[in-house]
Order: sequence, then structure tokens, then C-alpha cells
Amino acid sequence: MYVSSIAADYLKKDINNLKIVTCHLGNGASVAAVHNGKSVDTSMGFTPLEGLAMGTRCGDIDPAIIEYIIAKTGWTVYEVLDYLNKKSGVLGISGVGSDFRDLTKAMYEGNQRAELAIDVFSYRVKKYIGAYAAVMGGVDAIVFTAGIGEHTPEVRERVVKGLEFLGVEFDNKLNYNTERGKLTELSTSNSKVKVLLIPTNEELVIARETQALISNN
Ligand code: AMP
Repeated sequence: MYVSSIAADYLKKDINNLKIVTCHLGNGASVAAVHNGKSVDTSMGFTPLEGLAMGTRCGDIDPAIIEYIIAKTGWTVYEVLDYLNKKSGVLGISGVGSDFRDLTKAMYEGNQRAELAIDVFSYRVKKYIGAYAAVMGGVDAIVFTAGIGEHTPEVRERVVKGLEFLGVEFDNKLNYNTERGKLTELSTSNSKVKVLLIPTNEELVIARETQALISNN
């Protein structure tokens, strides 16, 4: 909600009249649909295992895979869940690691598994943007935030590529030349859908929520 209110302020629009998809892409990663100021859906589920592929988490998979792995390996269900949480995601796909700085470096050095991991990660984000645009009946702004969202243009490029049909016009040159810690509009001035990079401030959000909780008691 923090980044969507910053987005509304930046766009000089009333948040109660906006359809925003926020892509919080960090070690933990999720996409959220913020419709008229309310978070109406988010990619994480009962645990963070649902939704996007992450550094070490697999994200959405067919639940039948759990039984399949157990039958193949003889592991307990706890061992399988541990594997899906700690050894899967981009780490599992790439074999390189979970840090996108290592993944992009490996990709530029020709490591195809690292490239596949970046592709899979980005594809999942794109899929959720499409789903949430459908849920909200359109989208006014797509926001990238957190470590990967702020610092990995290779992911942003892959996520946004192909979203022209929604009305996204993306400035990919600017995408590769952003300034650290600065709110940046990555879409062109003609773009119907705004694409924003908004530096996150999770400490501030936690402090505000805590203060609100204390003053309500
Ligand atoms: P977060 O959980 O928001 O701190 O995001 C951490 C993730 O952001 C790391 O796992 C990195 O993969 C990714 N990242 C990519 N580039 C950078 C960077 N220049 N600085 C910090 N994190 C980065």
C-alpha cells in the first residue's frame, strides 16, 4: 500500500480512482492488485510458497508434484517442503544462486541456466500483471519496487515486454540508466499505463503501522 500511495501522489491522481499493480521483487517477492486504494489480491498465499518464483522458493506449482517427488525420492513431506522453500526458485533453476547480481553476471557470461531462471522469474511476474489487469478491469500503473524491482533492469525489461496490448509504452533505454534510490517513470509520456520504479521504504511502513497500532490501544 505504501508504494501505491506514493504512485498516486506522483501521478497526481486520487488513489480511490486508480488501478495499480505493484511488483515487490526482493528476496521475498509478490505482486498485488490495488484497486481504488484497496489491496484486492496478492500472489502470496497461506505461506510465501504460493505465487512468484523467488530466490529459493518454487512459487506456483501443481500440488501433485509433492507426491511425485516423495514417490521418487522417499523423502518425507517436510523434506519436500523444505526443498521447495530453500533449494528451488531461481537458485534451483540456475544452479548459480539466489542473488540477481550473480544471476545477471552469469547470464552475460553465457550461462543459459541463469538466463532461464531470469526468464522464468520475469514470466511469472508478467502473468500476474495480466491476471490482475483482468481482475481490476484494466491497469493505470505498474510499480516496480524492492531489491530486484529497483536494481535489475533485465527483469523489468522481460516483465514489461509484450504488455503493449495493455497500453504500456516502455522506455527501455531509461530502464537501463536509472539512478539508485530515485523514483523514476519508466514509461514514455504517451504511455496509457504508467510504469514506475519506486524505491521501497519497508522500515518506514513498519514504523507507521506500529505507531498506528500503539495509538489505537
Ligand atoms: P530485498 O529483499 O528487497 O533487499 O532484495 C534483495 C535482492 O535484490 C537480492 O537478492 C538481489 O538479488 C537483488 N538485487 C539486485 N541488484 C541489487 C543491488 N544493486 N542492490 C541490492 N540488491 C540487489
